[in-house]
Amino acid sequence: MNILVINAGSSSLKYQVYNMDNEEVLAAGRVERIGMDTAILTHEPVGKSEVREVTPILEHTTAIRKVLDMLVHAEHGVFKSIEEIDAVGHRVVHGGDSFSGSVLVTEEVKKEIKRLFDIAPLHNPASMLGIAAVELNMPGVPNVAVFDTAFHQTMDPVAFRYAIPNVLYRKHRIRRYGFHGTSHQYVSERAAKFIGRPIEELKIITCHVGNGVSCTAILNGKSVDTSMGMTPLEGLMMGTRSGDLDPAIVPFAMDKEDLSLTEVNFMLNKHSGLQAISGGSSDMREVTEAMLAGDANSKLAFDMFTYRIRKYIGAYAAALDGVDAIVFTAGVGENSVEVREAVCSKLNFLGVELDSERNKTGRGFEKRISTDASKVEVLVIPTNEELVIANDTYRITTK
Ligand code: ADP
Repeated sequence: MNILVINAGSSSLKYQVYNMDNEEVLAAGRVERIGMDTAILTHEPVGKSEVREVTPILEHTTAIRKVLDMLVHAEHGVFKSIEEIDAVGHRVVHGGDSFSGSVLVTEEVKKEIKRLFDIAPLHNPASMLGIAAVELNMPGVPNVAVFDTAFHQTMDPVAFRYAIPNVLYRKHRIRRYGFHGTSHQYVSERAAKFIGRPIEELKIITCHVGNGVSCTAILNGKSVDTSMGMTPLEGLMMGTRSGDLDPAIVPFAMDKEDLSLTEVNFMLNKHSGLQAISGGSSDMREVTEAMLAGDANSKLAFDMFTYRIRKYIGAYAAALDGVDAIVFTAGVGENSVEVREAVCSKLNFLGVELDSERNKTGRGFEKRISTDASKVEVLVIPTNEELVIANDTYRITTK
């Protein structure tokens, strides 16, 4: 059985194709700059060379059409016909409190995803474009929606409610939802396997540190608290997002700088975080390099970024009443020796002991970076959100 996994953004679309008989990736790729005459399609068939095409792609339906053409291309393709694709799995960012797991896409489900545009205006419309584009290009093929929020639906009101008037929760469902759920779930399950203990008896703190950053407290396999909120803006400092700040700053800055709602949203989501403090880059590689070369702004950005992760680990150790394992994942978490070192440097009070040699060696595989004597296991686990989506799609369409 072959499954296509789609992750649609507003102007981009990433894809992977799996043969689920052995969970083997057959091809991966992405379309960037959708909406432009110079859109870029990058296609990477496994075992063959990469193809890059610059071509006009004005909307998602054409993007999917081009991807499907590539998947059956005589030279670069991996299938003889599109009929070989049995189902499609979609990453949908916001499932609100309507979805606590992945679902088959029906008219009802689409209506609900659209209803959630209100609280996820930056994300859910793109997911719907992806679903609609597949329905048009592949009629009759089942679609499955996998939500970033679903894993966190186990949170208790104590963790998910905000201390604001009840009416805002009742009328508008304003509460914490949390994101990166497929990633937190996947790496926590892998971590339990790595340690060799059942997840049902573990206290795990997972740190997904990429462009977006979030930490989750996981008790016995269930998310009990997570740093992102009603939207992915809350919590840790990110590439271009502010993370936590005093909410009074928003009306104050709007008043002083004469900012509109759109402008203030744009500022907090796209022009804050590492980029704002370093004075240029939102890329942790560049920030670290500049810091090591002596740039003071980059050092402040790095220090704020890592200090805040450390604070959240402390908070979640309190939420869990202890911690057995801390897991680093995603672009920065999997690759940055410096970030992991800085985060773990002052967690001795929890019994964390980092092994600096282990921390430096190897990339792209699961590893322990704590010492053998450390009371808390510190692990690096590469995330694989696409595999979770493919597995859920397989399970739902074959049951
Ligand atoms: P996204 O949240 O967009 O999925 P990723 O998880 O791919 O992002 O993470 C992207 C980020 O990972 C980049 O912005 C970059 O800062 C960081 N990154 C990748 N490789 C390294 C590295 N070797 N050292 C430090 N940071 C890295």
